[in-house]
Amino acid sequence: MDNCIFCKIAAKIIPSSVVYEDDSLLAFKDIHPAAPVHFLIIPKAHVSTLSDCDDEHVAMLGEMMRLVPKLAAEQGCGVTRDAQGGVTGGYKTQINTGPDGGQEVYHLHLHVIGGPHPWRGQK
Ligand code: 5GP
Ligand code: ZN
Repeated sequence: MDNCIFCKIAAKIIPSSVVYEDDSLLAFKDIHPAAPVHFLIIPKAHVSTLSDCDDEHVAMLGEMMRLVPKLAAEQGCGVTRDAQGGVTGGYKTQINTGPDGGQEVYHLHLHVIGGPHPWRGQK
């Protein structure tokens, strides 16, 4: 997609702070972080929204989700367990879809937002 900013990021035409890359996915830090940790996972191939995904995208969506815990841990907001088995840390995952879903960039992306209660104060 010629005019898609995330396609340009995937193609390295626009620079970004990359946290992960493989043949089909790219993860990079959000330019306007909503919390101490805030990165986006995108497919390199253009898909506009979650609602444009069908059977051919199921594996890609699964790979995106499977990456989240690994990258969250690497970025410092992974879930950990204390000696008593209590859960600490964590993050929020979010896919904004369509205008009513607050989507601003029309290339599918999964937000990973970490830090203490990172969703508080978000619009
Ligand atoms: P949306 O509202 O579409 O779910 O979120 C789009 C996100 O992309 C926003 O959080 C915004 O800060 C981020 N963003 C927009 N343009 C750029 C850019 O050029 N580089 C990076 N790293 N993030 C961007
Ligand atoms: Zn795109």
